[in-house]
Amino acid sequence: MSSTQAAAETPRKYQLFIDGQWVDAESGKTFETPNPATGKTLAEVAEGDKADIDKAVAAARKAFEGKWSKTSARERGRMLYKLSQLIEARAKELAELETADNGKPIREAQYIDLPGVVENFEYFAGWATKIEGETIPVPGQMFNYTLREPVGVCGQIIPWNFPLLMAAWKLAPALAAGNTVVLKPAEQTPTTALELGKLIQEAGFPDGVVNIVPGFGETAGAALASHKGIDKIAFTGSTEVGKLIAKAAADNLTKVSLELGGKAPNIVFADADMEQAINGAMMGIFFNQGQVCCAGSRLFLHEEVKDEFLERFKERAGKIKVGDPTDKATQMGPQVSEEQLNRIKSYVDLARTEGATVLSGGCPPTLEGDFQKGYFFQPTIFSEVQNTMRVAQEEIFGPVVSVITFKDESDLIRQANEVAYGLSAGIWTRDITRAHRFAREIKAGVVWINTFNMMNAASPFGGYKQSGYGREMGKHALEMYTQVKSVWVDLSGKPIGWFGK
Ligand code: ADP
Repeated sequence: MSSTQAAAETPRKYQLFIDGQWVDAESGKTFETPNPATGKTLAEVAEGDKADIDKAVAAARKAFEGKWSKTSARERGRMLYKLSQLIEARAKELAELETADNGKPIREAQYIDLPGVVENFEYFAGWATKIEGETIPVPGQMFNYTLREPVGVCGQIIPWNFPLLMAAWKLAPALAAGNTVVLKPAEQTPTTALELGKLIQEAGFPDGVVNIVPGFGETAGAALASHKGIDKIAFTGSTEVGKLIAKAAADNLTKVSLELGGKAPNIVFADADMEQAINGAMMGIFFNQGQVCCAGSRLFLHEEVKDEFLERFKERAGKIKVGDPTDKATQMGPQVSEEQLNRIKSYVDLARTEGATVLSGGCPPTLEGDFQKGYFFQPTIFSEVQNTMRVAQEEIFGPVVSVITFKDESDLIRQANEVAYGLSAGIWTRDITRAHRFAREIKAGVVWINTFNMMNAASPFGGYKQSGYGREMGKHALEMYTQVKSVWVDLSGKPIGWFGK
């Protein structure tokens, strides 16, 4: 892949990656993935379905029982580390492809997504040799210890908002712990995961350890989630689909981890540093075109600062540079698809019907040339929102923020927690006792104090309530990809209990 190829006019072609081979789909079918900035076809991709998932699961099982189980922890760590270096060496090209497939601004793909991918593989490379059991101080002449073993064959279904980064979050801990994987990228953004497949081969992973099967959710995704041959399914995506996955997995009692939607409160108290809070509110909702599960999509403003804050926030939102995502100065690119764009538009109509005010944005920007066919939308602020309105309760997944006013701390906590989701929350205040009180009282898996969207491979990420279960990243991710075996050894040499002679 050359750096100019990502933006090339001739569509690229991709096959499925199964058992170390690049193959067509059994059905022979393919699908097209467009560049969301122009609507033009970026790539033609083999369309995996049940038959291909069956083949991939069989390959992953064979690898798990065979060569991979004989690969030492050190070797696994070295392969993961080598993979991180291979990615780093090609980070620029991969970032360009990510931008062409997803629409995110190149500066985000290059300075946030790709470094995050490298960091995750590097971090979990270090863990491979540090996954240990314990000895337990049991009574009597007994020795009891635990073995921490891989779960087995893992199905992993990922979304389109951070295509390569989500692949890294899922693959890195699974491989560090000695599992094998069937990965299904999102149909909107399959290309970078398939490029990753090439680097996985180059890094020396045995055939079948990682299999990548692009395809649609209702076909390939559903076949993977309900497959009897997998031991675990990990999913990141909408809460609606997460429920389908959990139901499909229930029939086989497959282990499940889910990282789902959010409707995070981002809270500004009157004592906050306003400049910092405005920046945080912008980062909270306009980063990645608002297509972020932990986005600060409910902006709670204290009534004392509401007017001043909104005036400045609106002015700043109006200055965001929306357009060609390959331009380094662009701050917001297109939404990922026409479907998402239409979904956002329908929420703007809903906001008006519900009695909210569309304070800024609310429609696509005027762009020129090829970009007229792109799926762009302006940064949008809804004010005069009540927490009970659908625009405050439902995940919109776009650059659209609902502003809600509050009076005091107890009123705030009640409203902030009155939502089905619980992925993340942010608070802006100089009062440290208030900030830490909030961190305890909010029902969310991640809390940011005077910052937003901070993440690191070493720090756990995941949801409370309907935002899912299980934690990604950090040592907690290893809990999802290992199982514990308790081993008992008699040290006395005597028969047990009263069944002796
Ligand atoms: P979004 O609604 O934001 O597109 P989804 O939750 O639908 O997000 O998609 C996330 C991932 O889940 C994608 O890889 C998609 O193909 C997959 N998916 C969608 N529907 C299903 C399903 N019924 N079973 C399994 N996977 C699915």
